[in-house]
Amino acid sequence: MQYTANSLENHWMPFTSNKEFKASPRLIVKGEGVYFTDHMGGTVIDGSSGLFCCPLGHGRKDIADAVHEQLLENSYASPFMTSTPGAFELAQKVSRLLPEPMNHVFFTNSGSESIDTSLKMVMAYHRARGDGQRTRFVSRERGYHGVNIGGVSLSGMVKNRETFSSVMPNVVAMRHTWDPENAFTRGLPEKGVELANDLQRFCEMYGASTIAAVYVEPIAGSTGVLLPPKGYLKRLREICDETGILLVFDEVICGFGRTGSAFASQEFDVIPDVITMAKALTNGAQPMGAVAVRDEIYDTINDAAPENAIEFFHGYTYSGHPAACAAGIAVMNAFDAEDSFKQAADMSEYFLDGLFSLQDLDCIKDIRGYGMLGAVELKAKGNPGALGTQTQKDLFWSGLHVKFTGDTGCVAPQFIAEKSHIDEIIDKLRKTLEAI
Ligand code: PLP
Repeated sequence: MQYTANSLENHWMPFTSNKEFKASPRLIVKGEGVYFTDHMGGTVIDGSSGLFCCPLGHGRKDIADAVHEQLLENSYASPFMTSTPGAFELAQKVSRLLPEPMNHVFFTNSGSESIDTSLKMVMAYHRARGDGQRTRFVSRERGYHGVNIGGVSLSGMVKNRETFSSVMPNVVAMRHTWDPENAFTRGLPEKGVELANDLQRFCEMYGASTIAAVYVEPIAGSTGVLLPPKGYLKRLREICDETGILLVFDEVICGFGRTGSAFASQEFDVIPDVITMAKALTNGAQPMGAVAVRDEIYDTINDAAPENAIEFFHGYTYSGHPAACAAGIAVMNAFDAEDSFKQAADMSEYFLDGLFSLQDLDCIKDIRGYGMLGAVELKAKGNPGALGTQTQKDLFWSGLHVKFTGDTGCVAPQFIAEKSHIDEIIDKLRKTLEAI
């Protein structure tokens, strides 16, 4: 393939230090299996599945062929008042993976859109039940729910919020679940279930009948893999059951096998009312997200509308885009054929053994992990995040891609990774971290 641009200037890059990158670019020109090739011809092993998107590996012919065939057959039709077959097929396949009673799936184009869509579903549901006074939302410090206004309002990351202060009102945040006393815990921490009672306190402070929903990532991914203490998610479910607050699991990272089960909901045995998802839904090959709801939510919103009227005034031009659905169907077929979630569960112990073997390094403050999702948190040096940013670049030039948030590297190997690939990721981490 020919790349003809002779300047990097015109592309305003997302979540990137544009000036630094353009002075010292890191372009990825090819992806195959667990490896990337950079623009200098170097090989880089992918230690974060891209951005947690590509558990099946890069350059999959089955997915590419499915998208190609679909585009030749029909590249687009309006999803409003007409539709295309793939959307129904993919919704059915996703429903089969979801916990009961969640059998309805709404398609979006990203995790951020899934979050905003879910907020509207929650509002529509309460209104349809005559419960429209529930206007308050609860989320959590150090949560990440994407970058649209709804998601920023829910997110608990200062840098994502401070520039954009005009967000949704009436959102309150529970405390995050990271506790230094749980440092170097593998799996779910024993201590900290009482943090879920923050939701109870909000009920006592604001009145439960004013709260619409509580949003949590079952494992907070982007802010550094913060695990829920044992019993924490169940306690949230209990409070929601007692009060009529809806429980939303943002499974944009956890969904599709990252924990070893299809969804974290099944892994942790807690069924929420709404699940948001994206990323691995298409193995990252097409932009796509989705929101799944309990049947009762779908039925309540639909039954409240007059006969033959549109029930939910929401949707995107590209909701259920044929090419994205084709990719999603190919991915669901591959998950099935390759038993991918079991593959993830089986490799998890080996991966976590490797990750926790780094514990002796002086530069490390904490290591956390569950399933095929782990974090190495470095002791900050200088400004928070400065060491992490430098380390991410050093790792890249040593041939390893790991996504950093602040000073924490989030390691999320692909499910197709073999033991030798895990060894390569851990060796490269060790060598670079030893030099700090
Ligand atoms: N929610 C969670 C839990 C995420 O991790 C992300 C992205 O990392 C999002 C939402 C936003 O997804 P997107 O970047 O596809 O909009």
